[in-house]
Amino acid sequence: MDYRLPTTVVPSRYDIRLEPDLEAATFAGEETVAITVKEPVTEILLNAAELAIHSVRLATADGAEVEGTAALEEATERARLLFPTPIPAGEHRLTLRFTGTLNDRLHGFYRSTYKDAPGASHTIAATQFEATDARRGFPCWDEPALKAVFGITLVVPERLAAISNSRVISETPTGSGKKTVVFADTIRMSTYLVAFVVGELEATAPVMVGPTPLRVWCVPGKLHLTRFALEIGAFSLDFFERYYGMPYPGDKLDMLAIPDFAAGAMENLGAITYRETALLVDETAASHTERERVADVVAHEIAHMWFGDLVTMLWWNGIWLNEAFATFMELLAVDAWKPEWKRWTTFGVSRAAAMGVDGLHNTRPIEFEVRAPRDCEAMFDLLTYEKGGSVLRMLEQYLSGEVFRDGVRLYLERHRFENAETTDLWKALGDASRLPIPEVMDAWIFRPGYPLVIVEPEGGGIKLSQRRFTYLPLEGAAAERWQIPVRLRASVKRGFVDKPVLLGDEDLTVALPAPPDWVAVNAGGHGFYRVQYAPPLLKKLTGALKKLAPIERFNLVSDALALAQAGAMPTADYLDLTARFTDETDRNVWTALVGSLGYVNRLIAEDSRPHLETLVRQRVEGAVERLGWEPRPDEDELERQLRGDLLRALGTLGNDPEAQERARAFYARYREDESAVDANVLPALIAIVAAAGGEAEYEEFLQRFKAARTPQEEQRYLYALAGFRQPELLRRTLEKTTNGEVRSQDAPFLMRTLLMGVHSRALAWDYVKANWQPMARQYPASAYRRMYEGVTALVSPEWEQDVKAFFETNRIELGGKTLDQYVEQLRIAVRLQEREAAALAAYLAKPPRLPRR
Ligand SMILES: [Zn+2]
Repeated sequence: MDYRLPTTVVPSRYDIRLEPDLEAATFAGEETVAITVKEPVTEILLNAAELAIHSVRLATADGAEVEGTAALEEATERARLLFPTPIPAGEHRLTLRFTGTLNDRLHGFYRSTYKDAPGASHTIAATQFEATDARRGFPCWDEPALKAVFGITLVVPERLAAISNSRVISETPTGSGKKTVVFADTIRMSTYLVAFVVGELEATAPVMVGPTPLRVWCVPGKLHLTRFALEIGAFSLDFFERYYGMPYPGDKLDMLAIPDFAAGAMENLGAITYRETALLVDETAASHTERERVADVVAHEIAHMWFGDLVTMLWWNGIWLNEAFATFMELLAVDAWKPEWKRWTTFGVSRAAAMGVDGLHNTRPIEFEVRAPRDCEAMFDLLTYEKGGSVLRMLEQYLSGEVFRDGVRLYLERHRFENAETTDLWKALGDASRLPIPEVMDAWIFRPGYPLVIVEPEGGGIKLSQRRFTYLPLEGAAAERWQIPVRLRASVKRGFVDKPVLLGDEDLTVALPAPPDWVAVNAGGHGFYRVQYAPPLLKKLTGALKKLAPIERFNLVSDALALAQAGAMPTADYLDLTARFTDETDRNVWTALVGSLGYVNRLIAEDSRPHLETLVRQRVEGAVERLGWEPRPDEDELERQLRGDLLRALGTLGNDPEAQERARAFYARYREDESAVDANVLPALIAIVAAAGGEAEYEEFLQRFKAARTPQEEQRYLYALAGFRQPELLRRTLEKTTNGEVRSQDAPFLMRTLLMGVHSRALAWDYVKANWQPMARQYPASAYRRMYEGVTALVSPEWEQDVKAFFETNRIELGGKTLDQYVEQLRIAVRLQEREAAALAAYLAKPPRLPRR
C-alpha cells in the first residue's frame, strides 16, 4: 500500500485556528495552508485521519477561487481533495474547515482527565503527534521532510490556559466567555512537533536562561513538585547551547506535565509534554532512581530542540538519528550536571538491554526501512535509543570528545531548519576528524546484530577474533565482521598495558611485553560487543575483580549470562561466577547480578524455588550486612540507592523472612514519621511488605495509591499491587487493568509486571487471553505493544505453544518485529530450561561451597 504523499504539492505555511470543546470532547478547526504546486494537478493528496472535512477552497495566485471536495482514505490515512478544473502550477492558498474528536487513545488531539483533591473531575486537551498523528489534529502533509511555519490560534474558555509551541502574542475576549489566543509564528519545522494544550493548568514563574524563559506547567496543586525539573532544565538548556555552539531555536520553553500521557515525554519545540512521573518530583521524598529518571528525560527532550527539531530526519527510517543522539546527549548533560551519579556507568544497564534484543535473529539494523505508520511506531525501541546511543558513545570515544562535538556542530550548522540523513552526519564527523567514518560505522548502523570478541592466549600475548553473537544458532554468524574499536588493558610484570586496536576482517594477535596476569577486553566498557574469554583467561580475570572498573565488572557479568543463555557456558558455571561478587560495591553490577537471578527464577521448577531463594540470600547478605538498613551521613547517593536495591532483592526474590519482618517494622515506623525512613529505602519496603503481605496491606496500599501526593508515590503503590502473592489479591489487581481504576497510560505496564512475576504470571496470562480485545481498544498503541513483553516470562514448553497459538489465532500485530522478538526471547528461555533444568535443579539443591572472598 502507498502511504507516502506525492511531492507535486508542498506546504510552506499553515495558519490554523482550533476551537476545542472539552466537555463534548470535540473540536472544530479551520486552516489556510500556503502551498506550492509544482506542476498542474486536479487533486491534492494530504494526510487526515478521524477528521471530517466540511469545506475545501483554493485561492490561486492569480486571485481565482475554486471549491473542491474531500474524500478520506481510511487505510492510508489520507484525504484526496478533488477539484473540477486543473490547478495551475504556482503559489496558492488552500483553506479547509474540519471537525474532529478529542479521543481517549492518547494520540492526535486527545483528552486527559484528572480528579482534584475534593474529587471533582477536570479535562485537559493535549496533543501527541509523533510519529504520524498530527493528521488527527488537522489535515496536513504529515511527513517529517515537509517542514513549514505554523501560525496557531486557539479559541478557548477564558478561565483555561492555552499553550502552543511559541509565545502568546495576543489574547482577546470573544465576548461569549471565550478568548482567542494567538501564538507567534514557529520556526520552519515538521508537523509531528506541533503541540497544543488547553486546560486548567498552572505555571511556575519563568527561569531565564539567556533570553529564553523556561517554565513548568502542571495541574493545580502540584507547583511544589517543579523545582527539580526547572533546575536540570535550566542546566541542560545552557549546556546544550554551549555544546552545540548555537542558540536555542525557540522563543520560550514550556515543559508540561499531562496526567494521561502514552510515552515518557515528547519534544514538541517550545512545548515539551511529559507524563507526570517524568517531570514532577518531590526531590526530598524521591529515591535516586526516581530523580535520575526526571533528570534523564528532561535533558533528553531539551537535547532534541536542536537534534530533531531544528535538524530533522528526512524520513522515519532515520529516527535513530534523533533518538540515539538525544539519548547520548542526555547522558552527557546529566553526567556534567551530577558527575557523582556516574551516569555513563549506569548506562551499561541500558546498553546490555539493547544487546538482549540485538542478539536475536529477529533484530533489525538501527536504520531500517519504514513504510506503514505502524512500523514507524515500532521503531521507538531499545535498538533506536539504547543501541544507537551506545554506538554513538563508542564513536565519540574513538574520535575524542572535542572532535566529535566539532562534527556535530558542523552537521547542525549545515542542516538547520532542514532535514538530514545518517550519511550527512558521517560526512560532518568525517570532515571534523579527517577519518573515514562510514567504513567504521556503517556495519553498526545498517546491519543487524553485533559481534562477540573471542579472546585466547597466544604465545606470550593474546589473539582476538570475532563472530556475530546470537542466542540461538544462526547460519553464517561465524563469517560476519565489524570494524571494532577495541580497547584492552592487561596487567603484566612491570605494570599495565592499555592499548586501542581496531579489530576488523582478520584475526588479530596482540603481543604483550610479558605473559599477562590478566587481560580485560572492552576496557572502559564503551564497546557495543560482548567478550568471551578462554577459560584460563576468565579464571585470571575473575581473580582480579578489584582491578577492574565497575563498568568492566558489569560487562563481565552481563556477557557471562548471555553466553549461558546462548548455551556457550553452563548456567551452573554462571551461578558460580556470581559468587565471586559478594564483595561488590557498585550498584550497576548488582543490577546485573540480581536481574540474572530473577531470570533464573522464571525458568526453574516450583520445588527449586526455595533453593534459589537461599542462593539469592547468600549472594546479597554480605553486602546488606556491610550497608545496614539505615543510611550513614558520609554516604553518597548511589550507596543509598544500592541499599534500597539490595534490601528489595533480599526481601522479595530472596524471600528472606527476617528481612520481611524488618521491612514491616520499618514501614510501621514510616507511617508514624515519614522522615524516619530514607527515600531510597522506602520503595523497597513497600515492595517487600507487598510480597509478604495480605489483605490488610493490600487495602492500605490501594488507598495510598488512590490518595498519592506525588507521581512517584502513586507508582510505588500501584506496582506494589502486582507484587502480592495471594491469588485473590492478584485477581483484584488484574481487574484494575481493564476497569478504569488504573489510567490507560499505566495499566499495560502494570499488566507487563504481572506477567513477569512468578507468582502472578499464570493468572495474568489467562486474564490477557480473556481481555485482550478491550485492552487493544483502551490502551495507547505503544504501551499495548510493550505489555506483551511480559510473555517472555512464561517459561515452559506448554506456555510457549499457547503464546504462539494465541498470537496466531487472534492475528495480533504489534508492528515491526516486536512480536517475533518476544516469541524468540521466550524460545531462548525455554530452550535453556529444556537443556539445563535437571542440572540447574541439582546445582541449586547442593551448590558447591566456594571460598568466601
Ligand atoms: Zn527522544
